[in-house]
Parts: sequence; C-alpha cells; structure tokens
Amino acid sequence: MRTVIRNVRVFDGEHTIATADVVIEDGLIAAVGSGAGRPADAEVDGTGRTLLPGLIDAHTHVFDGSLAQALRYGVTTELDMFCLPQILAGQRRLAAENDDVADLRSAGTLATAPGGHPTQLLGALAGTVLDGLDVTAIDFVSDPAQAPAFVQARLAEGADYLKIVIDDGAVHGADLPVMTAEVAAALAAAAHEAGLLVIAHAITAAEVGIALDAGVDGLAHVWTDLTPDDPASPRLAGRVRDQGVFVVTTLAYFEAITAQHVETADCARPGSSANAVGALRALRRAGVPLLAGTDATPFVPAHGAGLHRELRLLTEAGLGAEEALAAATSVPARHFGLADRGRIAPGLRADLVLVEGDATRDVTAVGDIAEVWRRGVRQAR
Ligand SMILES: [Zn+2]
Repeated sequence: MRTVIRNVRVFDGEHTIATADVVIEDGLIAAVGSGAGRPADAEVDGTGRTLLPGLIDAHTHVFDGSLAQALRYGVTTELDMFCLPQILAGQRRLAAENDDVADLRSAGTLATAPGGHPTQLLGALAGTVLDGLDVTAIDFVSDPAQAPAFVQARLAEGADYLKIVIDDGAVHGADLPVMTAEVAAALAAAAHEAGLLVIAHAITAAEVGIALDAGVDGLAHVWTDLTPDDPASPRLAGRVRDQGVFVVTTLAYFEAITAQHVETADCARPGSSANAVGALRALRRAGVPLLAGTDATPFVPAHGAGLHRELRLLTEAGLGAEEALAAATSVPARHFGLADRGRIAPGLRADLVLVEGDATRDVTAVGDIAEVWRRGVRQAR
C-alpha cells in the first residue's frame, strides 16, 4: 500500500516546507519531496492543508477509551504519567495490537509517600472510572532503602520511565504526606541505574528545588506558587536549564482547575493559571525544552481535545506556532527517546495528521482535521 499526499505544506517537527509530496509505504514515511515515480494506491490532495507529525501528549492518564479518543484528535502517542497496573496491561496490549488507538508509553505506578498525592484523588474515583479496583493497594516509598526494589517492581510492570511525586498538597488546599528529598534522590539514582528517565510532579518552587536536587530529568508541570513578576521564577528557570531538565507544560490542566476553583468560589488557592503562564514564560526565556502536555483524564482536560487547547494556550503565552507544534511533536520524541516518530522524515513511522489551513501560522487550524494516519493506517473520519 503506497499513499501519496500531494502538494502539501509540511511541518516536519522542526521546520516548515512550503510544498512537498509525502509518500507513505508499509507503515513508514517513504519519501518527502516529490512523489513522482511509481504509481500510488491512494492519493490525497494536500492543497491548502498542513501535514504534521502525529501529535504527542507528554502528560496523560489513560483509562478505557482514552487512546481511541486521543487518536481522533490526531494525538498518535500518549505519554502516561501514572496508570494502575490492572489498567496498564490492557491498555498497552490495545495500543500494541491496534492501529485505531494512540500508541502508549507509561510510568506505570508512580512513586509517592504513603498517603501522598494523588491517593486522595484515587479514593474519589473509586466509584467511577476505577470501579472495582483496589486503589489502596499501590506500592509506596517511605525510605530511601526501598528505592531499588520500587524501581525493579516498575520494570516488572513494564514502565517506560519513573514518575515521582513531590507535593505537600498545599496547592490543592490539602495537607498531605510528602516524599522526602532523600527518598527522591534515592529513587532517581535507582531509576538511572536501571536506565529509566525520571519525571517529577512538583508544582511549587520549593518542590521543584527538591526535584532538581534529586537529579530528575524532567518536570511533569510548571510551578504555580510564584506570581508572574516574582524574581524567583527566572532564577529557578535558570537552574532548570543549567541542569538540562525538560518541562511538560500542562497549561490546560491549570486552566481547568482554576476554572473549577472560581466556580466553587474557592479562589484562595495559589494554583492559578496566571502563575503557570508566568512560570512557562520564565522557562521559555531561559531556553528550557518545553514539551506540550495536558494531564488529560476521563474528566478535564480531555484526551485529544486537551492537547489542541494546550497548543492554543502555549501560543497565547508567547510561543510561535511552529515552536508550539514542535513542543507537541519532535521535542517530546527527542527527550523520551522515541527515535521512530515526532518528525516527518524518510524511515520514520507514518504517524501523521493532515489539517485544513496553515497550522504553522495559526495553531487553531489543528482543530480542523482532514485525515489521521497511525503507523500508515488511514483513520476513518
Ligand atoms: Zn498527572
């Protein structure tokens, strides 16, 4: 099966090619340039459209239905940041065996203190998406000596990277047990020993400081406790850059929880959208690699649509359209070692999204999807 997408504007993950023909063959991108030559089995007119690498959401939580929903929005890979083992096995099989759902990488069970974030949220889900699962039975880490065994258990679970949580609950208006700096450092060391990346959930400047001291590779959120003009923000962003740490943006998540607080007249919490945007701007000015992510769940932000919202919020925060698109394609692929995707180049997986209009000037065009291919398989619209 040989498909040619003709006369299309191509955003290759890093740069824009004004017009090209892109050839898909046997699940891979066979050529970018001129599709002249051997006849195609299928031709798609790309005139007035933009071809993008399949989108990558660098922070999600996958449940039944999430991966199918994501793919409908052109999200061809989800990087899950916590999935219970009872759910993960099935979702991983689904993603491996089917081309009508997004592909999946996952942290499996996250590392948190006994009773720490987000176990207070899991209880609330027990009657809905986690119905019938024992959510209290997850592994916890309370002592640095437990770190190597915890990491080995994640490897046995099939984890692709380690997620650790450093969160005392204050931003959520709670007071929760929190991982110590010693445990965080021991977990990071054990994960690196096992060849795993370490991504930290940390949403205050102090928690980010602990994560950086521990030697993590990435942050799963921006911080939200500093006001946009606080001089501590650029200082912290400089530290993040100097340590070579990447940051997953999740502005759509902070927008969603800020809206919920306003709805319930509970505006006192500092986890505000404006602070998140301020942190993002400081990180961008410092030159920190930014990965678009949403913290999508079955609630809000939604899988798929949430990433479109994230792209828009990123451009409103000052990123150029191409820069935002790179944050959702080549940048997460590079930082998570996904060498087979995230760009449009010969030999890579044919994970592709064709949208109406010029998404390289206006990211809202990503909402107007014409076609999606997952590993070369054209999706029914
Ligand atoms: Zn999350």
